[in-house]
Amino acid sequence: MNQLKLTAKGINNKTVIHIGDICVGRDFIMIAGPCSVENEEQTLKIAMAVKRAGANMLRGGAFKPRTSPYSFQGLGLKGLKILKKAREQTGLPIVSEVLDPRDVSWMCDYVDVLQIGARNMQNFSLLKEVGHVNKPVLLKRGMYSTISEWLSCAEYILKEGNSNVILCERGIRTFETYSRNTLDLSAVPAIKELSHLPIIVDPTHATGRVSLILPMSMAAVSSGADGLIVEVHDNPEKALSDKDQALTPESFSELAEKIFNLRNFLEKQN
Ligand code: PEP
Ligand code: MN
Repeated sequence: MNQLKLTAKGINNKTVIHIGDICVGRDFIMIAGPCSVENEEQTLKIAMAVKRAGANMLRGGAFKPRTSPYSFQGLGLKGLKILKKAREQTGLPIVSEVLDPRDVSWMCDYVDVLQIGARNMQNFSLLKEVGHVNKPVLLKRGMYSTISEWLSCAEYILKEGNSNVILCERGIRTFETYSRNTLDLSAVPAIKELSHLPIIVDPTHATGRVSLILPMSMAAVSSGADGLIVEVHDNPEKALSDKDQALTPESFSELAEKIFNLRNFLEKQN
């Protein structure tokens, strides 16, 4: 294990992060929304639907890290303005990915949580930059990264002064090809053994398949995750990114109900 000072368990009490009236690390968080913000109508419709289903934060990418430079890259500032409007209409705090260190400080006017995606987990200049601002950071695990490397990246952010880091397990690359990635759920209890930081699970990018999202969400909750982040689209077939893994608002609503029931059941056992 790399040297951990600020993120190590025992250094601090369990981290609890206040976002509006949500306490991440204490309350269960359900983040839902489209992979990409595509237009205002789509985003507001999805935002309203996920809120009705019980989500307590809205996700949506305005800057998209796409494998091909010819794929949809996101709406940028226009997308962030749409997200701000969605927050005004629903009250849901906004989670959105930042790709470039030069965008960190101004993006804070539009989002409540800055997401660092798997592809940028070890972008050290980006990590240092988000360490300087006063916004919670959702740090996704790199697809080729060990738990130790991941915690070292969180350490970069804490070292710069931002202690509000939420980790997100989103699957790692293995030889398996049926699922998009392999969800490493042992990372959840492992992180809890090693660190005081909250950890949530992204069953969407971990599996890449709609049919696997519900079972992996149930397993994530059972493993002790502090929340989930799930992609939802009102018309998945037409989605501009990640169309094979988007839940419809109806299937998200069913998932949310099952997850909240499971949470209640598990809480009664403790
Ligand atoms: C995303 O959340 O839209 C995303 C690109 O996820 P990841 O960085 O985990 O691939
Ligand atoms: Mn996506």
